[in-house]
Amino acid sequence: MNLYAGKILVVDLTEKKISTEPLREDWLKDYWGCWGLALRYYWQLVSPEIDPLSPQNALVIMTGPFCGTLVPTTSRFCLVSKSPQTGTVFETNTGGAFGPELKFAGYDGIIIKGRADTLTYLKIQDDQVSLESAESLAGKGIFETEKRLKSALGSPEAKTLTIGPAGENLVKYACIGTESYRQMGRGGAGALFGSKNLKGIVCRGTGNIAVADMSAFLKKITQHKEADVLTDANLWASTDGTPILVEAMNEIGILPTRNFTYGVFDNKDGINSDAIKAAKRGDRACSSCPLACGKFTHINGAEMEGPEYETLCLAGSNCEIADLEQVIRFNRLCDDFGLDTISCGNTVGLAMELAEKGRHDFGLRFGQTKAYLEVVSEIALRSTQRGKELALGAKKLAEKYQALDLVADAKSMEYPAYEPRGNYGMGLAYATSERGACHLRAFTAFSDAPLDVKKQTQKVVDGQNFNAIKWSMCICDFWGSVTHEIMAELLTAALGVAVTPDELALAGERIWNLTRLFNLGAGFTSEDDCLPEKIMNQPLEKGPHAGNVFNKENFETSKKLYYQLRGWDDKGIPSQEKLTQLGLNHL
Ligand code: SF4
Repeated sequence: MNLYAGKILVVDLTEKKISTEPLREDWLKDYWGCWGLALRYYWQLVSPEIDPLSPQNALVIMTGPFCGTLVPTTSRFCLVSKSPQTGTVFETNTGGAFGPELKFAGYDGIIIKGRADTLTYLKIQDDQVSLESAESLAGKGIFETEKRLKSALGSPEAKTLTIGPAGENLVKYACIGTESYRQMGRGGAGALFGSKNLKGIVCRGTGNIAVADMSAFLKKITQHKEADVLTDANLWASTDGTPILVEAMNEIGILPTRNFTYGVFDNKDGINSDAIKAAKRGDRACSSCPLACGKFTHINGAEMEGPEYETLCLAGSNCEIADLEQVIRFNRLCDDFGLDTISCGNTVGLAMELAEKGRHDFGLRFGQTKAYLEVVSEIALRSTQRGKELALGAKKLAEKYQALDLVADAKSMEYPAYEPRGNYGMGLAYATSERGACHLRAFTAFSDAPLDVKKQTQKVVDGQNFNAIKWSMCICDFWGSVTHEIMAELLTAALGVAVTPDELALAGERIWNLTRLFNLGAGFTSEDDCLPEKIMNQPLEKGPHAGNVFNKENFETSKKLYYQLRGWDDKGIPSQEKLTQLGLNHL
């Protein structure tokens, strides 16, 4: 089958049963792969009311059509399920090389059901698939677990997806790690593995991927790589990587600082791209990526790949920490214990503000690093009272200490690193994202007129629809100049059948609307598409947008327009006409 392996691996951990089923080819034209296809499978498998941590919940891991090919930046793959953190459906994806390896082993995706009675890992070696005991790995960090699983499979070339103690302990912002420093970070995927007693997956594949016309496909790849990937629009990823955003966001006044109190960080030089370059020892790329945005760093024995911009902000400026060595240490601890650095940094920042304001003293202070580093393991292990409380995440921590005026979250997911009081589009993007506060659904940070409600709202709708299909092709965020036309051309060459840009645009909108149907079924309403009090009522205190809020009136105007542009009613429910147009009326 062109571009696809043609099979899904189905693993029932309760029954200890492994099987395969043919890929649902009838869904491909509507959902394509990765996020879209995983979502369609998930919709079929569970009810939206499912308890995410129950054995009845399913996890769908999915690659996409370009994953494993030479199309630039397409090694990404995803997991779709219901988030234990937000209670919404969510998608979380990562790069690296596990996705291609899974396809080379002969599977487009894996469906995981049930719960193992003891800690287990899944071993995939082409068509030899087995469940193995992981009891000797209980409590081990991701770095050691990866090494041990590769060794158990007998191949350093094997690729892994594993959790650390945070996932085993069901911390709701636990991540899944791959290749040590890459994560399915947001939404608690690590806790989902933990709830299933699944320590990890190790995979080695030796197959290949067929295409209709190899020569036409390679020609298109070369053409687009030179004309559309290795261009000024994308090469920042290669020269600087995401740390370049520290200066950029500071310049436009939306670099969250001091738990979303300021939009600029006076000590940004300690954690900006120049600081990363001074500590850099090399670059690293995901499979099939000519950009190589990963930067290996080393300072005084603290070494890792990264930190990325989100971590430099949430664990740096937002905690008022400008010492790159300490941010690297924090990041590395999170990666090994298996915690999402965005949620963890945001929660620590909130705890610092609670202490500064005299609401509760966790021993954490802005700018101080000793307790900041100590608390990471305490959260992952739930080993102290403050660790247990910070493991709740920012929203629940704020509820516990009557501090909802201080938290920055959407649907209980902690805000990432773009301040909405200086860019309304980011606020609306967080409020309407299917998985809570997320910068990867619509990204308006660089757009003109950041406080123009009408323009920003249109950008959010367009961005969400576009990214839904882009992620479904498994294309990386950092191929920023990719278009529907480029995706359609590449698909046409590889599949040997014509694919149009319009079909792909419609698929993106379909995928977005299906997430909405799931979340409505899970009990979410338009009331949940909201901004936190801090963003609506407390003026930003420093930077070009000092004094600004995203007030209720502007936000409600934006939300109303958003629903109209989407063809949803004033309660945020898709109209029958919209569902019919998208082919979702029968679901
Ligand atoms: S740009 Fe970076 S994250 Fe994206 S595929 Fe390339 S190396 Fe991976």
